[in-house]
Amino acid sequence: MMRAWEWRDAPAARFAVIGDPISHSRSPVMHEAALRHRGLPGAYVAVRVPRGEVVEALDWLRDLGYEGVNVTVPHKEEAAQWCRPGDDFAERVGVVNTVRLKDRVGINTDGPGFLETLRDAAFEPRTGPVLLLGAGGAARAVAFALADAGAEVRIFNRTRERAEVLAAEAGGRVTAVPVADLAGAALVVNATSAHLGEGAPLELYGEFSPAILAYDLSYAAGGTPFLRVAQAAGARVLDGLDLLVAQGALSLEWWTGCDAPRDVMRAAVR
Ligand code: NDP
Repeated sequence: MMRAWEWRDAPAARFAVIGDPISHSRSPVMHEAALRHRGLPGAYVAVRVPRGEVVEALDWLRDLGYEGVNVTVPHKEEAAQWCRPGDDFAERVGVVNTVRLKDRVGINTDGPGFLETLRDAAFEPRTGPVLLLGAGGAARAVAFALADAGAEVRIFNRTRERAEVLAAEAGGRVTAVPVADLAGAALVVNATSAHLGEGAPLELYGEFSPAILAYDLSYAAGGTPFLRVAQAAGARVLDGLDLLVAQGALSLEWWTGCDAPRDVMRAAVR
């Protein structure tokens, strides 16, 4: 496990990932491998920022000379308050995972990164209905990206009103559903953070099958509980490491203008 710094103790560095919890993050190892490979200077560190302190922490890191920050659970909405959107997608989604500090601009690379991983897996978003579990920051990016790609998306979330709001905002063929029913789905995306807390596990109805691509935005050595269930029923599976690489590569390219070495980044986190 890499060292995670408290934000007021953060060392001088070029890039950081902020979140809470954050010590499990593989972003530092992945980005440092990419920087070394491209011969780019600077360090990338993990910084813990408690809820409610994001604005103060981003000011602090900018004053320390940080260039770019990735933002993870649970800060993507709060970070968007600190910056102006750098493109149309960030403006519509209202959630950012990548911030350029000097001019306070933020973008969202989770959505484009998610579509990149589907392309790599040869999955066309309009193949069939998508069941999207969750309505938090990551689910927002996925819902907007899938809506833009023309997919039919059914959102289930523990707090139903959030799913309804997200469905209405994402537009396209996106609806909120009252239960997480696998029947008829071509793609099932777990965009909840259920595994991080002590809460009840996800309640799914119906069965996984080989016709389903099961995609967990989370990752864990040996597979996540969600993917283990899907795999046992013969479903194709994708875990969040591919998304970690894709969204990180897009962030690095935006900050530095260099091509990100995705293979090197993948090898660093696998
Ligand atoms: P948020 O905190 O914004 O959202 C959390 C979501 O999980 C909400 O929909 C919440 O429901 C739901 N949830 C939390 N606990 C439970 C539970 N016990 N049962 C059911 N639902 C639950 O987090 P993010 O959207 O930012 O991240 C979600 C996940 O995606 C995280 O695991 C994160 O690590 C992963 N992720 C991975 C990426 C990658 O690069 N691989 C990129 C982005 C995210 P409610 O609204 O009811 O609270």
